[in-house]
Amino acid sequence: MFDLLIKNGTVFHNGSFEVTNIYLQDGKIALVSETIHEAKKAFDAAGYEVLPGLIDPHVHFDLELGLIRSRDDFASGSCSAIYGGVTTIIDFLEPTSNAKDLEMAFRRRMEEAKMCHVDYHFHATIKAPDGDLEAYVLKMKELGMRTLKLFTTYSDSGRRTSDEHIIELLKLSKKHEILIMAHVENDDMIDLNPRFTYNELPKSRPTISEVSEALKLAGFVKAYGGYLYMVHLSSGATLQALLENYPDIINRHFFIESCPQYFMFTAKTLKGKNGQLYTCAPPLRSIEEVALLRRLKDHVYTLGTDHCAFNTKDKRGTLLKGKPLGIGGIEHSYNVMYQVYGEDAIMRMSSRVAKVMKLPNKGEIKAGFDADLSFFKATQGQVIKKHHGRTDYDLYEGLPSSGSFDHVMIRGQFVLKDKKLLESTGCWLVAGGEL
Ligand SMILES: [Zn+2]
Repeated sequence: MFDLLIKNGTVFHNGSFEVTNIYLQDGKIALVSETIHEAKKAFDAAGYEVLPGLIDPHVHFDLELGLIRSRDDFASGSCSAIYGGVTTIIDFLEPTSNAKDLEMAFRRRMEEAKMCHVDYHFHATIKAPDGDLEAYVLKMKELGMRTLKLFTTYSDSGRRTSDEHIIELLKLSKKHEILIMAHVENDDMIDLNPRFTYNELPKSRPTISEVSEALKLAGFVKAYGGYLYMVHLSSGATLQALLENYPDIINRHFFIESCPQYFMFTAKTLKGKNGQLYTCAPPLRSIEEVALLRRLKDHVYTLGTDHCAFNTKDKRGTLLKGKPLGIGGIEHSYNVMYQVYGEDAIMRMSSRVAKVMKLPNKGEIKAGFDADLSFFKATQGQVIKKHHGRTDYDLYEGLPSSGSFDHVMIRGQFVLKDKKLLESTGCWLVAGGEL
């Protein structure tokens, strides 16, 4: 007899919705079938779209940024995530230069993540490598990670990785089946003029710096092989240039992630009331670039939020220098991305993330997979309500809403029932398997 029958839901199964039943056993999905079998309990999901628990591949909880830390920690950020139907988050380790420091950073982050209410994983993050890169990659794999983030910029804080090292990492990516993730902006084109105001952010970090760096990295991937994942693509112009020049490797060897903010807001908001609250890096782009991104949206492989939330007072002042760059969004990500993509948002926030990040048994409603399920009730004529995270503002509040998650389940246990949070503890996930 099965543990639980979830009946009559409109279930996202094999890439589309169908009305069917899901049977759970020991925290896993045991069967997806229209036929009726015996179960100890039943849950009626009629009227709900049942989605695989969403996976946010790009989250910064409790991130240290010099004098300030991002305001959501693993506890508050993961509560907000649950309301957004997100059952797995992938955060980052602090940047390290060698295998020994990597292991220490991993131990520290594991402590900080203990309070996480959803399942979690980390990307290793490298800066200015000073040791044996292969030893770094092997250590990463030993600790259960298959993704390695680097920065092409931030030389001012010593985080930049040189081209020589990027090429070596790409070769190691091929050899050891790992994914290189890159923050893509040309360091020399970034102007950190201390007199810039926050609404000059697009001038400080222009689109051309993203376009030129993305083309360079795609050229490296084409020449040396390996797998690269571009985080937070901000502009339609970058995507267009990549598609024109490297169509054969896009989303096969060079994967593209974008974020809700680059679809929903434009640089114009920086000039409006409370424009300082919209500061992030890379910055919001022109109306034309956002329109182009929307036109080319099918070529965005995954959606992450780059959730890095601050309070209003953290963003105060007109000068750009010293302002923490980052915005929250994990709770409303599906809600707003659904408006852009329809149900095509789902695979970009679940199965594709699990595959490219090598998280086994996550991201699909399929026998043998973890029973991570999010129950979405579509609504019309509603607006987005304030998030459940810790910060005092929410850029999406008041925008049109496509619905809400009323119930969320992780490994067969409800963590949200009738919009009320229940006690839950997330698990560390080990990555593995073939890319
Ligand atoms: Zn980020």
